[in-house]
Amino acid sequence: MILSHRNPDGDAIGSSLALSFALNKMRHKVEIVLPSECPPIFNYLEDIHKIAIFDLDQNGCRAKIDQADTIFCLDFNGLDRIDKLGEKVSFSKAKKIMIDHHLDPEPFADFEFCDVEASSTSELVYKFLVDIGQKHLIDIKTGEALFTGLITDTGSFKYNTRAYTYEVAGALKQIGVDDYSLQNAIFNVLKEKNLRLLGHCLANRMEVIPEYSTALIYLTKQDYIDFDIQRGDTEGIVNYMLMLESVHLAAFITEQPSIVKISLRSKGDLDVQSICNKHFNGGGHKNASGGSAYAKLDDIVTKFKNLLPSVIPFTIDQDYLQNSK
Ligand code: 5GP
Ligand code: MN
Repeated sequence: MILSHRNPDGDAIGSSLALSFALNKMRHKVEIVLPSECPPIFNYLEDIHKIAIFDLDQNGCRAKIDQADTIFCLDFNGLDRIDKLGEKVSFSKAKKIMIDHHLDPEPFADFEFCDVEASSTSELVYKFLVDIGQKHLIDIKTGEALFTGLITDTGSFKYNTRAYTYEVAGALKQIGVDDYSLQNAIFNVLKEKNLRLLGHCLANRMEVIPEYSTALIYLTKQDYIDFDIQRGDTEGIVNYMLMLESVHLAAFITEQPSIVKISLRSKGDLDVQSICNKHFNGGGHKNASGGSAYAKLDDIVTKFKNLLPSVIPFTIDQDYLQNSK
């Protein structure tokens, strides 16, 4: 069985599908289970509708875990990332194999294939298949799934890349993956309401705090209603703030039905993983992390602002700003 994290992104979905395709070719019976639903933009990926969703079928997904003898944990490294499935997995007797690229793994897996230098879990799944001598199993649909993870986790090869990332991209293109179509399918599929929402965020909800080289955007529950915000619709908005030369830390804070979610992004040496880990019950990568809290939106916005003097102690240090450009 293959598991990945809640609110699955292109890397979680792409790496899971790709590994399942390869394992199927090796005659394994594979089930993919995700805690929550996939954003519809990834519907072009073959077999995405065969993925079992815990939110939609809790008993069915529990039964799949009971039957599993091997559990691949892809693109997450803490059991709280898979909600109620976490407990089930921790008690499961199945062998657990973690393939992941986030910081600070929890020690729940029997085997770890983890590398924080990797652009994406999809890059690591590619390497895993190569390392076990099964590179030949990577066909076009598997390649498309992997390429989706590369594109989405690197913002189209803008960050998190290393030389190997491009080797993998090259190898996938070589076997016939159409990267141009994938980029179109992922990025040029917005509805009018998505651009209106972006406009609303930038015009009415963005606050720039120059003394801390920081910007933040928040969305209220009412915004979710007014702009008919659905799963995946807020993806990427946080990144716009980093386009400002003066901004080195960007926060996107949203009021969800029962929690407040925070996404942080940074440039250069500023470590947002430790901020999310220490203050927002979360984690992720050095330059891209998230977390959440059972609290009021205003309180989280205030908490974030109050943290700035301690997390950005060197705002006036122009050398630091220069170096992290
Ligand atoms: P995003 O801000 O796009 O939701 O997530 C950015 C990164 O932080 C992703 O790598 C994601 O896995 C990680 N992340 C987001 N939310 C959480 C969270 O609540 N807990 C942990 N541990 N990681 C998170
Ligand atoms: Mn990832």
